[in-house]
Amino acid sequence: MLVAIDGPAGAGKTTVARALARELGFPYLDSGAMYRSVALMWLASPASEPAALARGSRIELRGEVVLLDGRDITSAIREPRVTEAASTLAADRGVREALVAKQRALLTSGDWVAEGRDIGTVVAPDAALKVFLTAAPRERARRRADELGADVDAVLAEQALRDARDSTRAHSPLRPAEGSVTLDTTGMSVAQVVAHVAALARKAGA
Ligand code: C5P
Repeated sequence: MLVAIDGPAGAGKTTVARALARELGFPYLDSGAMYRSVALMWLASPASEPAALARGSRIELRGEVVLLDGRDITSAIREPRVTEAASTLAADRGVREALVAKQRALLTSGDWVAEGRDIGTVVAPDAALKVFLTAAPRERARRRADELGADVDAVLAEQALRDARDSTRAHSPLRPAEGSVTLDTTGMSVAQVVAHVAALARKAGA
């Protein structure tokens, strides 16, 4: 079965999806890492067409390790300039089509916890459980600022831009999927959120 976890930046998707995957014994798909991989390639080769980069690359996700044509790019894709470029490239229809095809190919069989912005709406609308994780903008910014050792107000401003791009783009805008459960995690601990989503997954057959 597939558990889809979508939501805005900083809602805790990655932490929750990884913990849930561990708890259920399912593999974990971080679709954002794919957009980040394309962004990293494009920053290195800005004259290239992003969709061609997305189609031509070999992006491998091995748990939490990300390989691009065999090279370990796990930490490189977390740099702020990559975060910014990924958010922009994610509006490109050709990039989305190429990456959605790769994600669907991975998710065709077996059990998965998949995380992103459009898993429940586009990649796998038939997922057994679709969760839309969210939290108040300042809390999301505070969590990311803690993680990155950055200033909350700077993170809040950057996050507002990414949220706006994700929600207003023409192709696969960020929104809760039909039949999804929205969970506002403001004021909840990671353990509480994971327990809640794990209970929903078990109810859905995990
Ligand atoms: O989740 P993460 O922050 O790593 O994603 C990087 C960027 O990729 C996001 O800002 C978002 O614009 C884009 N993304 C997307 N669809 C997904 C996953 C990520 O548009 N399924």
